[in-house]
Amino acid sequence: MRLQDPVSVLPKIGPVYVSRLEKLGIQNIEDLLTLPPNRFADYRHTTKITDAKTGEMVTIKGKLNFIKNQYSKSGKVMQIAEIEDESGKMKIVWFNQPYLIMSMRRGLEMNFSGKVEFFGLDKALMSPDYEIGNNLVHTGRLVPIYPETYGVTSKWLRSKIAFVLKVARPEITDYIPLSDLKNYSLLSYKDAVYNLHFPNNDEDYYEAKKRLAFNELLSLLIQSNFRKEIWKKNKALYRIKIKISEINKFIAKLPFKLTPSQNESISEMLNDIQKETPMNRLLEGDVGSGKTVVAAICIFAVFLSGYQSVIMAPTQILAKQHFETLQKLFNKFKIRVKLVTSGLEKGDSGTADIYVGTHALIHRIIESEKVALVVIDEQHRFGVEQRTHLVRKTGKGNKIPHVLTMTATPIPRTVALTIYGDLDLSILKEMPKGRKYVTTWIVPSKKRGPAYEWIMKQINENKAQVFFICPLIEESEYETLKTVRAVVKEYQEIKNIFKNFRVDILHGRLKESEKDKAIKKFKSGKTDILVSTPVVEVGIDIPNAQIMVIEGAERFGLAQLHQLRGRVGRSDKKSYCLLMPSGDNSGSSRRLNAMKSHHSGFELAEIDLSIRGPGEIFGTAQHGFFNLKNASWGDTELIKKVAEYTEFVISNKRNYKTLITRIAREEAGPN
Ligand code: ADP
Ligand code: MG
Repeated sequence: MRLQDPVSVLPKIGPVYVSRLEKLGIQNIEDLLTLPPNRFADYRHTTKITDAKTGEMVTIKGKLNFIKNQYSKSGKVMQIAEIEDESGKMKIVWFNQPYLIMSMRRGLEMNFSGKVEFFGLDKALMSPDYEIGNNLVHTGRLVPIYPETYGVTSKWLRSKIAFVLKVARPEITDYIPLSDLKNYSLLSYKDAVYNLHFPNNDEDYYEAKKRLAFNELLSLLIQSNFRKEIWKKNKALYRIKIKISEINKFIAKLPFKLTPSQNESISEMLNDIQKETPMNRLLEGDVGSGKTVVAAICIFAVFLSGYQSVIMAPTQILAKQHFETLQKLFNKFKIRVKLVTSGLEKGDSGTADIYVGTHALIHRIIESEKVALVVIDEQHRFGVEQRTHLVRKTGKGNKIPHVLTMTATPIPRTVALTIYGDLDLSILKEMPKGRKYVTTWIVPSKKRGPAYEWIMKQINENKAQVFFICPLIEESEYETLKTVRAVVKEYQEIKNIFKNFRVDILHGRLKESEKDKAIKKFKSGKTDILVSTPVVEVGIDIPNAQIMVIEGAERFGLAQLHQLRGRVGRSDKKSYCLLMPSGDNSGSSRRLNAMKSHHSGFELAEIDLSIRGPGEIFGTAQHGFFNLKNASWGDTELIKKVAEYTEFVISNKRNYKTLITRIAREEAGPN
């Protein structure tokens, strides 16, 4: 059996299990063998029956005297068994598992692991795990517990993994040479894979984890290196001649002064787009840091050279907003801007200098057009295919446009360098001048009344405008019907509470014209309160809004909370964010408290890393981001070591053919 074989080569794994395993991210044998346990049950304490003490977790080896189902008056069923060893006898009790009597027989020697408790006046083992024989997998040792998904239990996974390791004996070869393993004090891959699941002690497990983490990071780093090399083989479709004095004139006429990092990012980009190799740059900047204008200046430079640009946004609302911003910025120049979303085209007829839109854009670009620059906003919201598709569609063979991707995802630098090592990085470090921190409060349920009154006062006295975000129902990139139902319900409630105020609703399933109307009314101050879903607001820029209320705040990840809060505090007016945990949730969570005391996305990202690993900062894999399996983004030490090793491998390619081909065969990374 080879590591790359599909799981379907295993006995008793048919199409049903194949698809269930896929939900756990498991397709081949190697995926199965590197599946990290969530935790371990410590069943190492083996004891004689007489020595077993109540409250202890023990393993007892004994002969089964009997097992029977016992029904209670209320119809519940209990399984009572008795075991015996040379020291005495003991009862075992399970609940609601009548089938157990079929899997055990009187007289069998068995192992039981579980907790000793009082059952009536006697000591008994309560709902223990059990197995027959001496080859211990489920009892009598550190027993791995796996994440479960519908139809795949932890025990099932454990049996399969044990089967593969012990019976099928897969060929597990190392692609890191022995001398390098020694240098970095790494376990062999074979031992690591075994000890991840069946370690003898904590240390075995941590060593295994470290080795697998090393492999995982190595493959991310080497893959981003590959992507960089592949990118370098492309030629820029058009090299841009920079007309710097005209660009400077344009910048001087902006209604604000650019921040130092905006200026720096702009020069980095203008430098990139003159070159023969197309730009491949990631502009990372906190919510509200002013990424749009940076992109606009790049677009302007492209226009001055006589070429076109395309800017793609994840939602219609955001596309529309960019369209309006660009029209306003460029209205004195004869720049034709066109909005393209599904079922809608707006702006000048014929071709345009700038196309703004959602992914519907991809089908609108025609061959005769001269697209020199593709801008992708909120890039983490797009799939890899959508991005590649747009770039290829606008390119001609290996000649492709310059690409600028933008994200507010606060990726710590070490992480960005690992997974986006192929992209050049520009970071907007500071916020535009005059921004004030958004004062953030956690509002427990008993203080809701006073909070509502305070909001009313703010509307009456300060003409404040308020966002109400309904709770997150499902982690989804798109709005589900359930989410829409939740926002409608929230809207009714808010209308009832705020009777004398102008309340409006916004969600993705409204008609295009209704969405437009809702946003226009809010922008122009004709609405006091806008009730919205969490999904619809990404990137929206309404400088007048001053209060953000987030219902069910405890259900959101830190990055999402930060994005939502970023919808207010976009001018020099004092702004507030009210986090309202649902029900009796006291709101004492570390996340909500972090929101109270921290305001920078980068800081919040670091905190989130320390609370629970990066998976949740960045949302799930469906957002196109990369969840680590055994490695952790918080482990900067290891990331540094692997980066150093990657460099060594790349510069000694000839000696590392096996390693490189093995990694090349693995799936491509996030970009
Ligand atoms: P984001 O980085 O979240 O996409 P935007 O590009 O939407 O942020 O910018 C947020 C707001 O800040 C916009 O209203 C924009 O006009 C304004 N802005 C951008 N740069 C500056 C600046 N240097 N000084 C003041 N305001 C700015
Ligand atoms: Mg933006």
